[in-house]
Amino acid sequence: MDNYLGPQKIIEKKKEFLFPCSQHFYKNPPQIVRGEMQYLYDSEGKKYLDFFAGVSVMNCGHCNPEILEASINQMKTLQHTTTIYLTQPIVDLAEKLSQILPGAIKHSFFCSTGSEANEGALLLARLYTGKNDFIALNNSLHGRTYLTMSTTAIPMWRADPSLSDCVSFVSNTYSKDKNLEDAANESLNTVQRVIKSKGAETIAALIAEPIQGNGGIITPPYWYFKRLKDLLESYEILLIIDEVQTGFARTGKMFAIENYDVVPDIMTVAKALGNGMPISAFCTNDKIAASFTKPSASTLGGNPVSASTAIAVLDYIEKHNLCNHAEKLGKKLYSELIRLQKKYPNIYDVRGIGLMVGAELLKENGEPASEETDFILEELKDRGILLGKNGLGRNVLAFQPPLVITEKDVDFLIDELDRAFSRVY
Ligand code: PMP
Repeated sequence: MDNYLGPQKIIEKKKEFLFPCSQHFYKNPPQIVRGEMQYLYDSEGKKYLDFFAGVSVMNCGHCNPEILEASINQMKTLQHTTTIYLTQPIVDLAEKLSQILPGAIKHSFFCSTGSEANEGALLLARLYTGKNDFIALNNSLHGRTYLTMSTTAIPMWRADPSLSDCVSFVSNTYSKDKNLEDAANESLNTVQRVIKSKGAETIAALIAEPIQGNGGIITPPYWYFKRLKDLLESYEILLIIDEVQTGFARTGKMFAIENYDVVPDIMTVAKALGNGMPISAFCTNDKIAASFTKPSASTLGGNPVSASTAIAVLDYIEKHNLCNHAEKLGKKLYSELIRLQKKYPNIYDVRGIGLMVGAELLKENGEPASEETDFILEELKDRGILLGKNGLGRNVLAFQPPLVITEKDVDFLIDELDRAFSRVY
């Protein structure tokens, strides 16, 4: 038997040596010790079906052998030099990305985290436009650095008491009465109002997630981003699309914005690109890239190990047709959740695209069912399934599994979810 510390001791050490801001899920959390594709194992040997993928990171599965081989080979050969020396994986990855990025997006600046990529994208928008301010959507989450936290609307993720006032927030497409079309129209109207009141000459870019992840899997209607892009373009304001959580086959397309048939000016990627290895990037076309001329580098950004891993990730997604798989299983998951919704009306809404799906739970009086959401999460964990949760009221069950799950896994999830719901409602 391995000599694991166990959940209680880990919690004690967290309290003593980490910060109080570092929180965890569950009243009785397991110690996770091993991963194998869509499964995780705890220190007691219990197996879990992972339906959150470390927040949309492990799209190709935990410890995927094909990807590991590329990482380990690279680790044994050359780990790190930084960009002052010439190495091949970083340029091979950039070239490969240029082949799959939408439209004429072709240049990548590699860094390590989603926050860093978004911070870079905001900087790039300022450099290109010569303008200072930004628009972001309600319920957004773009990161932990100063500017990205300033463009983050979710109150619990705005820790800094003196964030920048260069950001104006507008309505997102969430609708309390589920009239998505009206909510999306209202969102565009508020964008227009902000541009008029602040002046287009002050606003560099609008930053948005195609589907808001932490905001509650808020999924705009299919026409939304096209009209948003046209509106911004008429005022020479850039559109930055944050694909940190939605990217790399999760929504049935390589990038979620492709479902909306729109080419952003700047796009950011992270999380699933490295399948657990830290790598991120902001990406753009020739014209915008040309405005970033002062020297800049991220010490670890796109180093040989993370770049080789990312190339293996992209190869794996292609070879195993994960886009189609996510689309197919996403449809099954969605229709099964709609079936459950008919049985349990407290499931107020089911939304999302592909394998990025949310189920919003409300109490009878219309308030967010936060405690019930926690109960269901705990029940499912005990039954061997790890789900996510998000939304402003922490009342949206988040289904974002590794894209290598099977139909059987979805059936197992739905059966167990049904049992858990029957204990609450
Ligand atoms: N953008 C989005 C949409 C995210 O979901 C997150 C993190 N959950 C970030 C940015 C920040 O990424 P990171 O934690 O890698 O800095």
